[in-house]
Amino acid sequence: VLFVLLGLLGALAGVGSHWLLARSSSPSIELRRALQAGEFIPYFQPLVRSGTQQWIGAEVLMRWQHPREGLVRPDLFIPLAESSGLIVPMTRELMRQTAELLAPVADRLGGGFHVGINIAAAHCRSRELVEDCRNFLQAFEPGQVVLSLELTERELLEPDAFTDQLFADLHEMGVKIALDDFGTGHSSLSYLHKLKVDYLKIDQSFVAMIGKDALSLHILDSVIDLCAKLQLEVIAEGVEDELQLRYLGDRRVDYLQGYLFGRPLPAAEFLACALDEPAASVQLPG
Ligand code: C2E
Ligand code: MG
Ligand code: MG
Ligand code: MG
Repeated sequence: VLFVLLGLLGALAGVGSHWLLARSSSPSIELRRALQAGEFIPYFQPLVRSGTQQWIGAEVLMRWQHPREGLVRPDLFIPLAESSGLIVPMTRELMRQTAELLAPVADRLGGGFHVGINIAAAHCRSRELVEDCRNFLQAFEPGQVVLSLELTERELLEPDAFTDQLFADLHEMGVKIALDDFGTGHSSLSYLHKLKVDYLKIDQSFVAMIGKDALSLHILDSVIDLCAKLQLEVIAEGVEDELQLRYLGDRRVDYLQGYLFGRPLPAAEFLACALDEPAASVQLPG
């Protein structure tokens, strides 16, 4: 009875899928089952060019379509997926689904459509990443998409001979590397120039400071200046209002992402907007 009560309390408190995984006798078996059942699916959030606000790509964000609990957000299951080693097959499956969805319409998305995939630390430590990227790119004609891997400072903390070679091989295939959530991790300024990254994604916590706190804005401005000097392209995340849009546009941030342009959307809705078609007429594979 006590356990039932505790479970109910957890549910009422809205602990959601923490509770979902916690009550399962083996959470990693639950994740494995969900992977086999195809419950992990991609959502797509538009990436726009600053200035024109044209959709030039998308970040792929994983969602768990749970049969009873509904849509589960990644913060609640990615940590467990990482610690149980399942994140690599889960990401591979996400890339497979993404290629299957985008390949049939890629010629209509405009050349060089950016596809951002979040990559966990374990995946960066494995040569399988190169193979996974190759398989993804093989679904497309040359030049149709630009694959960009989003890594956080955690993944990039200690670049060594292994990652140097890995990144060199990825770059040779045309794969780009973006440093995600920049500014929130361990200070990486000291080795930023040593990292072979192409894009820097300024974390949404900095964007949220626009219009609020003058001192923090100096930090944001300095980061943007630094990127320009290091010849890195900048993406600002979490753009929610016009004030932020104007501020970042004036400072020539290259690309923007945020609720102002579009929330993460399921494939059919995303493609309907990207292709400018009614959602009902978008044909999904499978
Ligand atoms: P992230 O890669 O930094 O993704 C951006 C997060 O910010 C997404 O949350 C997105 O929905 C949210 N966001 C976008 N625009 C706005 C905005 O204007 N305002 C606000 N408040 N939030 C915004 P989401 O989808 O819940 O993903 C959270 C994190 O989960 C991601 O952060 C990423 O670290 C991780 N994640 C998601 N999918 C995957 C995946 O396939 N693999 C791995 N390893 N991690 C993933
Ligand atoms: Mg990301
Ligand atoms: Mg981020
Ligand atoms: Mg994040």
